Amino acid sequence: MNIKIDKEKCIGCGSCTAVCPELFELSGEDNKAQVKEKTEGEAEMSDKCAQEAVDICPVQAIEIEE
Ligand code: SF4
Repeated sequence: MNIKIDKEKCIGCGSCTAVCPELFELSGEDNKAQVKEKTEGEAEMSDKCAQEAVDICPVQAIEIEE
């Protein structure tokens, strides 16, 4: 699974980091969401909340590629 965040769309609302802190964080540079660096095992465990983040994002900036 590969997760992409469209930084052009992201408004830095922080919702994805709230529902899925294992996977998302806000960048200190531009205050927009970014995917945390993870090992493969950890990423697998986060699959469920990744989908929640996609659903909660108000601007559809998060995309999951299988
Ligand atoms: Fe950006 Fe969407 Fe995450 Fe909000 S929920 S910080 S708009 S990616």
